Formats: sequence, C-alpha cells, structure tokens
Amino acid sequence: MTTAVTNAHLRGRDGLWTIAIVADGTIASLDPVQPGGAPADPTVIDADGGLVLPAFIDCHLHLDLAYSLDLVAPNTSGTLVEAIGHWSEAKRELTAENVRQRALRAIDDEISFGVGHIRTHVDVGTAAEMRLCEGILAAREATRERIDIQIVVFPQDGIVQDPGALEQMREAMRLGCDVIGGIAHNERTEADSRRHIDLLFDLAEEFDADIDCHIDETDDPRSRCTEVLAAKTVERGWQGRVTASHVCALASYDDEHAARVISLLVEGRVHVITNPGVNLHLQGRGDRYPKRRGLTRVSELIDAGINVSAGQDCIRDPFYPLGTGNMLEVGHLLIHADHLSTPAGIERVADCITDNPAKALRLDGYGLAVGKRADLVILDAADMTEVFRTRQAPRCVLRGGRRVMGC
Ligand SMILES: [Zn+2]
Repeated sequence: MTTAVTNAHLRGRDGLWTIAIVADGTIASLDPVQPGGAPADPTVIDADGGLVLPAFIDCHLHLDLAYSLDLVAPNTSGTLVEAIGHWSEAKRELTAENVRQRALRAIDDEISFGVGHIRTHVDVGTAAEMRLCEGILAAREATRERIDIQIVVFPQDGIVQDPGALEQMREAMRLGCDVIGGIAHNERTEADSRRHIDLLFDLAEEFDADIDCHIDETDDPRSRCTEVLAAKTVERGWQGRVTASHVCALASYDDEHAARVISLLVEGRVHVITNPGVNLHLQGRGDRYPKRRGLTRVSELIDAGINVSAGQDCIRDPFYPLGTGNMLEVGHLLIHADHLSTPAGIERVADCITDNPAKALRLDGYGLAVGKRADLVILDAADMTEVFRTRQAPRCVLRGGRRVMGC
C-alpha cells in the first residue's frame, strides 16, 4: 500500500506536491513539498518531478471487437458500412470464450497505458445473440480488481430493422450490463431512427439506466438524429443522463443549423463523445478535396458548455486496424484534428480523457482531490504538452493507492 506520492507536478498548480493516501485508498491531502526531500520510506513513491494525473478514462470502446481484424473479411472500402456488414457475418460464429480472451488482451493494454475506467459497448441482437455479452461480462469479472468497466448494450444492426434486438438488450441488462446503447442512424428510414430513439428511452426508464447512443456517425448533412435525441432527452426528463457518441454530421451542417442543434444539446445537458482516430479514418471517405476531417465540432461544443470527451473506440478491428488503448494517442490525434495545440487547447484535451468522461460516466469518486479514490498515473514528463508529445506509458499506475503497474 502506498501512503504518499511525492515530488509530483500537478495540473494547474506550480511547484512540487505530495499526495498523501490513507488506508481506505483515498487521497487525504495535497501539500507543497517541503525543502529537504522525501523521506526514505518504501511506502512513499518519488515521482521525481513527473506529472501525476488521475487514471485515464476510455469512455468509448468496443472490447468485443478488439483484435478481431484477422477474424473478418478485409474492409476494402475502409467505410463504416462495409465494416458493419463484415462484422455482422463474423459475429455469428464467435464464441463467448473467444470474445473473453480478446477483451482481456485489450483490457491489459489499456491498464498498461494507465486507464482506470472503461466504458465498453457490446453487440447484442439477432446475429450476436448473448455470446458477445457473456464474453465481456466474464472479462469484466476477471479484471475487476484492476479496472472499472461499464458495459453498454449496443444494438449494432439497429432495433427497428433487427426486431430480435430489443429483447436481447433487455436480457443483457438483466445479466448486469449498465447502460442503454443505440445506433440511431443505422435504420432504414428517418421515421425508424426516431422510433429507435423512443425505444432507447423506454428501455432507459424500464431499467433506470443512462443512455449512450452512437449517433449521426456520417458526413451526410441530412442525418438529423442528434437533435431528436437531445429533444427527447428534455421531453423524457433524462437531462444529464444521455451521451451522444460520434455526432459527426454536426460538422457537415451549416453554421445556422449546427447552432440550433448545439443549443438543444445544452438544454438536454447531453454529453458528447468524439473518437478522433476512428472518425478521421472512417469519415470523409466520399470526399475529393478538400476532405472533411469527420470529427464533430469539438471546440464549439466545449465553448457552448457541453461536456465533451474522447474515446479510443477500436483496437485492431474491421472498423479501424490501429488503436493501442493509449489515451494519450487519442488526445494527440484530437489535438491535431481540432487545432487544440495552444496551451488552453492542450488542457481541454487533457480534460477530455480524464475529468470530462468522469462526468459522462458519472464516476463519483474520481479525481485528483482530497477524498477521491487514489487512482493515479505517474508520468515521466512534467507537463501536459510533453505528456502528449511523447505519449509514453506511465511509469506507475495506482488504484485505490495499490500499485497496479510499475514503480
Ligand atoms: Zn463505437
């Protein structure tokens, strides 16, 4: 058990600090380091001037897809539509054990990069049945001492166009999943997309659960699901409990319509998640030049007061052949894609992989503050710009004051 981390740089504070940790694994105090150096106490970790952050959060991941690239037909177009098609076929053959093993590998990757909390989506529906969900539940159980995982039930093939999905979603929630997922734009018609969103709120009420919906993951400016989700959030009284993931079409709307949608998101206190690597990769595929970047309007959303986070989304799967589980790489891509390289921009991106997703996932005990759980990463670099520049794995990862990795 670690009793303190000393000689630590902290975001937003000058000088070096000591973080004291008490026996229940929470942070007892944050104090400036006194001259004379750290005591030679084996329970005290010397950060040696490195930056210490709360553990990273990967708020949007697909653990059931991780490391599946070699199990499916090649995605020759590189598009979302082709990936969904190949995955729909492949998942009919997957066993829960295969899913569990690939998920465990990805979870280990994420832990090695200092991730302390994951929100993963898991496919449920006619093709997936409950096998993928069972594999992910088993992987969560096997790793619960090392990492927290929220599971979103995800009807990848739609709900209206996959009539078996709804009951599978219910079953997955009964088995222990946490959040109602959706993919509103993946239905046959606009009317079906609206119906899809209504069904998500019905399920959310039934299970008293939050919603995290893949939405408008397209460059098509006619894709208008986000405004429906935001309006329904207000109508159904679910403010603060809904997350819109991707929201790519917002970047293709004209400014006037985008402003209207953003004001609806503010009214619904809807959280937004962007997945910069995957959206840079999948979107803009139909463009000649100039090519759109595909990400939602990250800076405009933050300026409007919306809680924006960033996720890894995919690790070596048919949607995205790259991805490592390193949230610093996710941040690095976001810095480039949304011109967030100013000092203020860098801080915004740091928030997108720490404090902001903690709000979206509603993690009460999260943060580098007195009384919060000591889930900490100790980095070699001393400031956020250098942390993103080098993107090195943490030297040490603590969970509730216990050493999970390194030191
Ligand atoms: Zn996703």
